[in-house]
Amino acid sequence: MSSARTAGQAAPGTDAPGLVAALDIGGTKIAGGLVDPSGRLLHQVQRPTPAREDADTVLGAVHRVLDELSAHPLWGGVRSLGIGSAGPVDTSAGTVSPVNIAAWRGFPIVAEAGAHPAVRGLPVVLGGDAVAMTAAEHRYGAARPYADALCLVVSTGVGAGLVLGGSVHHGRTGNAGHLGHISVDLDGDPCPCGSRGCLEILASGTAIAARAVRDGWRPTGPDTSASAVAEAARAGDPTALASFDRAARALAAGIAATATLVEIEAAVIGGGVARAGDVLFDPLRRHLHTYAALPFAAGLTVLPAHLGTDAGLVGAAALALDELSAS
Ligand SMILES: [Zn+2]
Repeated sequence: MSSARTAGQAAPGTDAPGLVAALDIGGTKIAGGLVDPSGRLLHQVQRPTPAREDADTVLGAVHRVLDELSAHPLWGGVRSLGIGSAGPVDTSAGTVSPVNIAAWRGFPIVAEAGAHPAVRGLPVVLGGDAVAMTAAEHRYGAARPYADALCLVVSTGVGAGLVLGGSVHHGRTGNAGHLGHISVDLDGDPCPCGSRGCLEILASGTAIAARAVRDGWRPTGPDTSASAVAEAARAGDPTALASFDRAARALAAGIAATATLVEIEAAVIGGGVARAGDVLFDPLRRHLHTYAALPFAAGLTVLPAHLGTDAGLVGAAALALDELSAS
């Protein structure tokens, strides 16, 4: 494979000096992609995650994705593999322990993906999925103009990552910026992480939907997710609006704490819940006036993420590209 890689340094059909391969590993799917340095996803494959199977079966699905990806003619131009995974991750050990993949605990994904015949010899870079999304928004998206920013993924959970001094800040094990498990409510409900009142259990899509139902909102159709709550909120349903307002308040408290701690200029919000649009962003900006009170923290910009459904793969690629440009 190494001769093919050398020959592919200037991949035909691209204006790029080389490509990166990307893996996005989650509890429901394992996606693979070929991405050029401008962030274009040139080719994509995916498989369902056999999340209830044993560790080798899950790894087998990763290797099948790599088989399919490396069969593409552009594979010869690949210089590096970036892996974004559901967390927790330990980038110092090269291991992942995704909450929704029970058989993978401290699983050595960097070594195991790196052992695939087509990957052998390539640098392999690992990051958590939220940090990968942060790398993508910083390199290509809404966080691009900012040296100091917080990027959040608000979906079934709340993930986040930090850009500090112009670079993605990973932390020792790759989990820095894990805002979803910062407590914003001292006497709040217990969180599965072991703490109390975590941002995630107040602001995730799961929490928004559960609170709306608990407070009496009734969906008009079978959809009881946060997007159905958002639709009801847009139509003026007071219970739905109150549920979004509560989530926005929790997010504002977490963002304000981050701004106060490390002086971010912008907070970029992606994930399915961000697609609620003004129903989320209007109360969020309003509550930030209350919580981000000190002059240096006030006035930070809140923006929707640019990257959509490709954010996982483009993020994994951005992690690899960041590493290549640093070396
Ligand atoms: Zn927690």
